[in-house]
Amino acid sequence: MYFSTHLARFSIPDVLVPPFPETPSPVANKFPLPPLFFFRYLGSDMKIAILSDIHSNLEALLKTFTILDDLRIEEIYCLGDIVGYGGSPNECVNLIRKRASRCVLGNHDLAAIDTSHASYFTKPGRIAAEWTHEVLTSQNLDYLSSLPYRLDTEFGTIVHANPARPEEWEYIVSLEDAEPQFAHFTTPLCFIGHSHIPFVCGEDRKTFVLKKGLRALINVGSVGQPRDHDPRLSFGLLDSDSWTYENIRAEYDIRGAAQAIIENGLPQFLADRLFRGV
Ligand code: ZN
Repeated sequence: MYFSTHLARFSIPDVLVPPFPETPSPVANKFPLPPLFFFRYLGSDMKIAILSDIHSNLEALLKTFTILDDLRIEEIYCLGDIVGYGGSPNECVNLIRKRASRCVLGNHDLAAIDTSHASYFTKPGRIAAEWTHEVLTSQNLDYLSSLPYRLDTEFGTIVHANPARPEEWEYIVSLEDAEPQFAHFTTPLCFIGHSHIPFVCGEDRKTFVLKKGLRALINVGSVGQPRDHDPRLSFGLLDSDSWTYENIRAEYDIRGAAQAIIENGLPQFLADRLFRGV
């Protein structure tokens, strides 16, 4: 049904198309949100924002927090790859340290701690990992080093790449990839990132929205480097009360993010791709 996954492994999946049928989201294409949406989200504690793959993109992260502040959502989980590729690693780690109640380690975080883990990256990714390692404060390196590969929270399992082998960084980009993952978490939901391509996949592999009683694997997409040919930032919003999930997309200052990459001497390619969402 889908493209071969080997394209995605350990390379930049430029040619990927969304592997799962698109999750219908009334919000996704209509930001700023309509008044009813705000009403629905006001004053409740049961909303959790799940952010992944920020990749040192301060402009996208600030816009995400503006949206969450408007919605009065304070519970924030982070699925890793706070750094790598982008021009503002310390600013992004500082914000996540301050705002995220839970956070797991991503492969680019690991490469920033120890650049020997960047050996399989593409050249621009490796250059960015080495630069990130140089500029991160020792406090922020310590924070990244403290992150676990996986956490089981009240609302679901959170892991960067996949629950089966979190330290192997294999991508989940097809129904075939998704199927065996369900044996590796016992919570109702498992949130992942890593491919930068959002989807919802029910355990029956026929349901692509959140449904009560059906476990699901959810990729929240990427805040700082979307790769589904939609350059808008992406994150997930779970309402554990009504048991609904939405993939939020919003425009942000891509120009500013691209400028930070160029100004820090990082490869032009990393700036250009932000405009194309690849
Ligand atoms: Zn990533």
